[in-house]
Amino acid sequence: MSRLRLAPALALALAACAGASPRTAAPARPAPQPAPAVSIELPASAAQGSLVIGRTRPGALADYAGRTLRVAPDGVFAFGIGRDATGPLRVLVSVPGGGSGERLVDVTPRDWPIEQIDGVPPKTVNPPPDIAARIEREQARVAAVRTRDDAREEFAQPFVWPVQGRISGRFGNQRVYNGTPKSPHSGMDIAAAQGTPVKAPAGGVVTFADPDLYLTGGTVVIDHGAGVSSNFLHLSRIDVKVGDRVAQGQVFAAVGATGRATGPHLHWGMNWFDTRIDPLLVLEPAGKTAP
Ligand SMILES: [Zn+2]
Repeated sequence: MSRLRLAPALALALAACAGASPRTAAPARPAPQPAPAVSIELPASAAQGSLVIGRTRPGALADYAGRTLRVAPDGVFAFGIGRDATGPLRVLVSVPGGGSGERLVDVTPRDWPIEQIDGVPPKTVNPPPDIAARIEREQARVAAVRTRDDAREEFAQPFVWPVQGRISGRFGNQRVYNGTPKSPHSGMDIAAAQGTPVKAPAGGVVTFADPDLYLTGGTVVIDHGAGVSSNFLHLSRIDVKVGDRVAQGQVFAAVGATGRATGPHLHWGMNWFDTRIDPLLVLEPAGKTAP
């Protein structure tokens, strides 16, 4: 008698677990059919700081990180992966009255270099209490518009560069201002001359426009739908107001050096709700190397 021979009941159970054919594990009567699997299209892995776009059945509910994602009428949904996120990330999808499924997405870690930035006006690095309170109020106003969850899908189009130029500061780099460590860089800096027209990298609705925030100067937020937004900082001119729609490629502002900036450049940041993501990763593939 083989050492590996199993009691018939156990052998049947193991065969069932392994998905054996009915010929070897025929049940006496048909087993209840599992709910139909829901199709979920997602990449198997994605980088820290990326925007992940998935697709499932229209009408399905998708959950990620404790949030119910907006699933568009064509089944498209999106979520962002934070700079310091570790995987695997779990996405659950269910169809009311139908099937359900889950996908795991591995997170590809990235290197985050340290950037020394000197010559920044000291009052902007360690502001006095009254200024700190102003900064806090202004940041709360910007944070509020990032809670929107609009039923628009402009986030899914390939993004284009808002200005042409060299990348002078990358997303996620640990920044040290005048020797003082600060938060990681929240976006991508593109070198461009004062007054250069800034184009919308994707379509959207203007949800914030203020010419004079303390740290970020002329500031615009464009909402691309489903919690995905872009912010543009240090602008010298703003041509739009809250509520305006902008089309991809439309000029809406000009490059400047307002707020905490050492010289003219465009800071382009992106968010999925309050999660910061890397604009470089949403650009159309041909545009991922600086133009
Ligand atoms: Zn910047």
